[in-house]
Amino acid sequence: MSNSSNYISPNKDKSSYHCPRCGVYSEQNHFALRCSNSTNRILNGTATKCTHCRDYHLWIGDELAVPLASIAPPPAENMPDDVKEDYEEARQVVNHSSKAAAALLRRSIESLIDELLDDASGHLYSDIETLADEEIIDDRIRKAFDAIRVNGNEYTHAGRIYAQDNQEKALRMFELINVIVRTTISDDRIIQEMYRDLPENKKRENN
Ligand SMILES: [Zn+2]
Repeated sequence: MSNSSNYISPNKDKSSYHCPRCGVYSEQNHFALRCSNSTNRILNGTATKCTHCRDYHLWIGDELAVPLASIAPPPAENMPDDVKEDYEEARQVVNHSSKAAAALLRRSIESLIDELLDDASGHLYSDIETLADEEIIDDRIRKAFDAIRVNGNEYTHAGRIYAQDNQEKALRMFELINVIVRTTISDDRIIQEMYRDLPENKKRENN
């Protein structure tokens, strides 16, 4: 029942989030990890217990140690394979490096543009402009594209990585890509399918 449209990343400081085990948004009970028969805390460790699947997650400091699952949202339905390849790789690295994730996510929107534009130039800035000019995307989605482009650029420029690591920002980039895929691909597919199923004599071109 994982609903990635309002995905709340696992975070040991939050009382509820999408469980990395069962995928359900659920309340989490928190416990400090201590040695048995002692008040000593283990490695600044915390356990959270999902109230839905009743399974545990273990944290060392702020980092999710068990299960070995990504804190980023799963890809939106209908995400094209080329886009998904970089997106999934970004999910695998984001727990440890938001910089690497941001660079991969920027690459994944280049693949998405290749899907949407017949004659992509390979220059992100102008391709986003073309998508807007040809009314393939509206202004809201253009802003989402630009946010990913700019954030990706901040992390990597001319082969140098210089931005501060910012996991929250990287996680928002995952959300934005899912919004773009849902708007440009999934919604479009639903509309096309609905229209295709209309009786031929009711379609606009036949009236
Ligand atoms: Zn769970």
